[in-house]
Amino acid sequence: MTGVAGAVAGAAYIVAALLFILSLAGLSKHETSRRGVAYGIIGMTIALVATVILVAAGAWGQPSGALGLTLLVVAVLTGAAIGLWRARIVQMTGMPELIALLHSFVGLAAVLVGWNGALYDTGLEGALADIHHAEVFIGVFIGGVTFTGSIVAFLKLSARISSKPLMLPGKNALNIGALIAFLALTVWYVITPELWLLVAVTALALALGWHLVASIGGGDMPVVVSMLNSYSGWAAAAAGFLLNNDLLIVTGALVGSSGAYLSYIMCKAMNRSFLSVIAGGFGIEAPRAGDEEQGEHREIDAEAAADLLAGASSVVITPGYGMAVAQAQHGVADLVQKLRERGADVRFGIHPVAGRLPGHMNVLLAEAKVPYDIVLEMDEINDDLSSVDVVLVIGANDTVNPAAAEDPTSPIAGMPVLRVWEADNVIVFKRSMASGYAGVQNPLFYRENAQMLFGDAKEKVDEILFQLSRV
Ligand code: NDP
Repeated sequence: MTGVAGAVAGAAYIVAALLFILSLAGLSKHETSRRGVAYGIIGMTIALVATVILVAAGAWGQPSGALGLTLLVVAVLTGAAIGLWRARIVQMTGMPELIALLHSFVGLAAVLVGWNGALYDTGLEGALADIHHAEVFIGVFIGGVTFTGSIVAFLKLSARISSKPLMLPGKNALNIGALIAFLALTVWYVITPELWLLVAVTALALALGWHLVASIGGGDMPVVVSMLNSYSGWAAAAAGFLLNNDLLIVTGALVGSSGAYLSYIMCKAMNRSFLSVIAGGFGIEAPRAGDEEQGEHREIDAEAAADLLAGASSVVITPGYGMAVAQAQHGVADLVQKLRERGADVRFGIHPVAGRLPGHMNVLLAEAKVPYDIVLEMDEINDDLSSVDVVLVIGANDTVNPAAAEDPTSPIAGMPVLRVWEADNVIVFKRSMASGYAGVQNPLFYRENAQMLFGDAKEKVDEILFQLSRV
């Protein structure tokens, strides 16, 4: 980047990078999250304007001037139109798969930028040429893994393919072999940059990305989503090196490192080994089939549930994915208000991976204007559950499954869960006896203190509200 346009764009990129850092800081707390989003929007606007200036000035070679600008405007408008359309129609429950799909675009872009970098004559020589070749190879590899990995995540999250882990014989050896092959090919390509090596690494990366994510079981998918977020950041940073774009490098590194840290936090929350999950379920054995029914369950209707709640002095609500599907959060908020008016102590217990997105339940409850101070995290509420009169499990399943704590052979063994079964009474809102996302039967449903309230969660909450007004 040279000349006045380069200097202006360089300064603008620094301001944009600072705004992105402020945006991340703002998004880490409820109170400052709106400001965080605003910083992000301003930073991205500045970055876009600076990029337009650079293209117009021909800083990235041909096509520059009017043709370059026209191509840029067409690309931006097409992308923005599709993005706006998808963002407007996507349901909250469809966000994880949309995010996975968007990550795949970043991966694909990094592969294309890498290929462009290989085919475009840079005129570099000596050590600089070697560095360029390594950048191309690494960029294509990270991009390829991100691309197919994200597509498999999209297919799993949207239930287009089974969420069960793929267990190829020798899967760990396959992953390690692919990494060793990548390292060897990189050295080879730096020494003799032949096109077939680039074709080979592209195919290797696409296959590895597919296999890594296919090998990870349903219960570990939250980590996969944040891990692919991290990969997409590194893919963008790799593209930034090739395009000589500082902002892309900084932004990619921010996304890459914050995604990696989020994956680490989620692994800790789920008691999973971070390394084994990012290595495609490395060392995790095939789970035994865990979906057979385990005895008799009891049912309750809305009227009896309202009676039970009317006599309760302490109530805890543990929402899950089903609350999001039913869009029951507003009814739940009304129920909370009604119970509190009657003098009950009502709190929420939120599992870190409830729903299909980190923070999914918090977003829904904030939308329904539930006060923050009664929304507690799993660790804050678990020890109190044994002294609670009634727990309402609204569309949650895996996150309240006692098998995780009590059955070492369960596929979700060791994952910390909300110990709702310790309360005096548990009412489970769901439509059937079907298992949750991890595909594991839930022994909670057969406990003596548990009763099933079958039906759509929103309808059942509304019925309870109606019945409560008569009690
Ligand atoms: P689960 O996915 O375990 O269970 C949700 C339950 O909701 C189902 O058993 C379903 O039962 C019920 N349900 C669905 N629709 C309705 C409805 N309209 N009314 C009432 N009930 C309904 O949910 P949890 O939140 O407990 O657990 C989340 C799971 O998702 C975990 O396994 C987690 O690892 C995984 N995951 C989480 C991600 C995250 O970032 N949070 C990302 C990806 C995966 P039925 O069909 O019988 O109604």
